Amino acid sequence: MVVAENVHKSYGRLEVLRGIDLEVRRGEVMCVVGPSGSGKSTFLRCVNHLEKINAGRLWVNGQLMGYRQKGDRLYELRESEVAAQRRDIGMVFQRFNLFPHMTVLGNVMEAPVQVKREPRAEVRERAMGLLDRVGLADKADSYPEQLSGGQQQRVAIARALAMAPSLMLFDEPTSALDPELVGEVLDVMKDLARDGMTMIVVTHEMGFAREVGDSLVFMDGGVVVESGAPSEVLTTPRHERTQAFLSKVL
Ligand code: ATP
Ligand code: MG
Repeated sequence: MVVAENVHKSYGRLEVLRGIDLEVRRGEVMCVVGPSGSGKSTFLRCVNHLEKINAGRLWVNGQLMGYRQKGDRLYELRESEVAAQRRDIGMVFQRFNLFPHMTVLGNVMEAPVQVKREPRAEVRERAMGLLDRVGLADKADSYPEQLSGGQQQRVAIARALAMAPSLMLFDEPTSALDPELVGEVLDVMKDLARDGMTMIVVTHEMGFAREVGDSLVFMDGGVVVESGAPSEVLTTPRHERTQAFLSKVL
């Protein structure tokens, strides 16, 4: 489903990703942890080609992100073609980034109506179904500022799901939340995982990683230092850097 092969990314002279190799199979949840600045967010942004990689290859759903390959040569896709690839990938950030002037329902309906040009009535019905799924059907007509952080983040998840993505990327979706609101967002993510969604989740919620993750990746300095089954990485980390990091967050 997602294959990263020797992915390199630099900003000027700063090499942020230094050869990332990863694979996430369909229906699997990969959790990514690592210190600040290790390149986790950059990697997620490369997966949906918000950032252009400098070397390597990234495939999502069998499609090479951002390029068309002919023989040995790569040709950059047009912006519209990249946009089409991205539509298949939902992304949820630390900050919820909802449209403040739109209702909750409006937020969830926006992309399918504006981007996919789907009929409003159908989109509305599906959006209500998604709000129900994240436990917020009764907030459909509220505005984001009227919601708690946890509720806003659940709307953000519903909004991403409205495009019917086959892959969901989460970048520290609970780290901006008050502790008592973290659980409700993780519950929605657990539900999604149970439903078979393929997910890459950057998180420091080790309980979530252990319970829901099929794999756990520890990144440091732009490389994958260690990866494996979450229970193994968490209980018997093989590398000193992983041990040092886990001893701080566990
Ligand atoms: P955090 O846990 O703090 O979110 P992270 O692992 O997500 O960290 P990244 O945001 O991927 O780390 O950043 C990796 C490195 O790349 C950092 O040194 C950061 O300053 C640098 N960086 C990220 N984006 C840019 C950019 N657009 N231009 C220049 N440097 C950048
Ligand atoms: Mg980050």
